[in-house]
This record gives sequence, C-alpha cells and structure tokens, in this order.
Amino acid sequence: MTVTYPTVSPLSCGYLSPPASKFLADALEGERLTMPSMAFLIQHPASKSKIVFDLSIRKDLTTLHPGLQAHLKTRIPLSSENDVKSALALGNVEASDIDYVIITHVHWDHTGTPSDFTSATFIAGHNTDKLLKNEMGPDLYNPFFERDLLPADRTIELPPVPGSKNGEVFDKTRGWYWQSLSPIHNAIDMFNDGTVYIVDSPGHLPGHLNALVRVAVHKWIYLAVDACHHMRIFRGETDFGSWKDEKGRTVTIHKDLDAAYETLGVLRKLQREGLNGIPVEVVLTHDGEWEKANGDHFFPSHL
Ligand SMILES: [Zn+2]
Repeated sequence: MTVTYPTVSPLSCGYLSPPASKFLADALEGERLTMPSMAFLIQHPASKSKIVFDLSIRKDLTTLHPGLQAHLKTRIPLSSENDVKSALALGNVEASDIDYVIITHVHWDHTGTPSDFTSATFIAGHNTDKLLKNEMGPDLYNPFFERDLLPADRTIELPPVPGSKNGEVFDKTRGWYWQSLSPIHNAIDMFNDGTVYIVDSPGHLPGHLNALVRVAVHKWIYLAVDACHHMRIFRGETDFGSWKDEKGRTVTIHKDLDAAYETLGVLRKLQREGLNGIPVEVVLTHDGEWEKANGDHFFPSHL
C-alpha cells in the first residue's frame, strides 16, 4: 500500500513592520523589520480534511478595536490586502470548505477573520477563552482581545498538558490525547496515523500551538509560529529582544521566558537531529527570508 502523505502549503497573507527591538537583542536604534504573517493550508488526503493553520492579519482592519487600529499605525508598512480567504481562492478552495482552523494564539496578526470559516471546527490552546475574556490576571491583560473572537459552539479548547507521560483521551470521537514525541513534550496526533500533530509550544502566550506534519517518507515540516521570530535568534547569533515595562520590569515578547528558551531548545534539537532520524524543517511564521526562498511553494503549490 502506498502512503499518501499530507501536504503543507504556505498562504500569501499580510505583512507588518514592527520595531526590531521587540524581537532582537542587538537591534539597531530605530530599526524596523518588515515581516510576513504567514498562514498554512494542511491537506490530509486519507481523511480528505483541510486544515488552516493560523489566520494571519484580518483583511478589514476597521473591525479591530479602535485602540488596536491606532497601534497599527506604528506598524507600517502593513498590509492586509491578501488574507487567508483570498490566498485559498488562488487554488479554488473556499473558506467554507475548511474542516479545521487551528488558532495558534490570539495575537491580532494571527487571528484574521474567523467568521469566514462557516463550517470549520476551531482548535485553540488551553486557556484561550479565559485569555480572550481577560481573566488571566494583570500580566496577561490585553485591551485588544475580542471575547467573541471564536464561535463557542464550534471551538475545541484543548485541555492542559499532562504533568508527565501521556494524557488521557479527552476527545473520544477523535481519539485525541496529549502524548510525548521526544524531544517534543506534548502533541496530539490529529488523525491517529502519525502524520499531523498539534504541538504544545509554551512560552510566547498561554496555549501557544505549533504543528508538525509528515510530508514525505524523509521529511517533516515543523510550523513554529511565534516560538521564535527571527532565524538569527534560532541560530544563536542574537538573543530575544527585551525592554522595560511600565513597572520597570524587564520583559520580552514571550510571556514565560524560561518556557520560551526551553521550547527554542526543543526546536533547535529537532532541526539538528530530526525526529526518529527523519529530517525536520522548522518554519517561522514571520521569516521573510524563508518566504522569499520558498515563493514557488505557496498555495496552490506546496512544500
Ligand atoms: Zn506573530
């Protein structure tokens, strides 16, 4: 029997230009990074499932919180002209054809327009609902979160990861449970066939999710989202950028810095050693150089 592996197609979506100091420890004074906010279409042929991984930047920025719209004026050049829906249309896929939308975390450059996906089941990390409702305490308070972002009747919020070893089945219909996949601590085998995993990626924001997809006999793609914002950090050439908050504390883009370093260590190990001897390519959502180098593989093509 021949195995047909899933495909991963990057989607051409929007971009933004934040200060480099938010990400890189050695940013130059006034330096800005124009970076894509990529999303991905994962197709699983055996089950005929289509998964959208992340929703990038919302096309209609005027529906965002007014305070956020003001903030975005400091992120130019910024574009939301292309979004997940328009990128899918390039391959004649409609948003309503999508079975699952994985929301990797609820920052504005990843949450797009959920209402476009009228039939999809949304998957979000643990405590996403509490985060959106600003019930996670002052350090995680964000006035721009939208409490009704996700459709309550079509959203699966993942349970907390188990303290050690494997967790119990929490979704009996799908047979989902948290399992370790060394060096990854916690992952869910979406189709119970070892090809598409939702990965717990702690550090950036509570419930931050990554994905690991087997695209060939000898290749995994690891979608690392915001576990790391720049390959220079990934390669160890510089560190996470930091600044002082209003209370004078040193903070970074990652809410749990120790966990972020641990996650980065896992990703470096995957890139270096592969997974069970099979090479892993780690892809960062905001990596403009990777986007350029892989231009030929965007949807309707694939990696
Ligand atoms: Zn981001």
